[in-house]
Amino acid sequence: MPRPGYMVSEIYKNLLKKRATILYPFKERELVHLPKGFRGRIIFNRDKCIGCQMCFRVCPAQAIKIIEDERGKRPIFFMYRCIYCGSCAEYCPVKAIELSDIFENIAFNKKDLLVK
Ligand code: SF4
Ligand code: SF4
Repeated sequence: MPRPGYMVSEIYKNLLKKRATILYPFKERELVHLPKGFRGRIIFNRDKCIGCQMCFRVCPAQAIKIIEDERGKRPIFFMYRCIYCGSCAEYCPVKAIELSDIFENIAFNKKDLLVK
């Protein structure tokens, strides 16, 4: 067991050191090098979408819901369910879905993790 005097000196030494962690998510992380082909947060181009619902059919994680808006059927993506398989982007006939390099999919509110 360490001697109490040693422990106190260690505590003081570490109190003066620069913090080793960051106050994430309040402070931004430095960008890490992402591997080629990295699949991150979905970017959906609503104007390109033709409402075929193919993305909804192929999603293995039930991360897509189809809603009806003024232009017809359109998907909504729940990023908190997404497993980043990329199937929706692969099967979309008009390339309206892209998997970006945004890897920070965290939020205090679930609504902030919807992609419309
Ligand atoms: S990337 Fe995969 S899991 Fe995520 S929404 Fe598309 S099909 Fe579903
Ligand atoms: S597969 Fe593409 S075009 Fe079809 S509903 Fe999904 S996003 Fe729209």
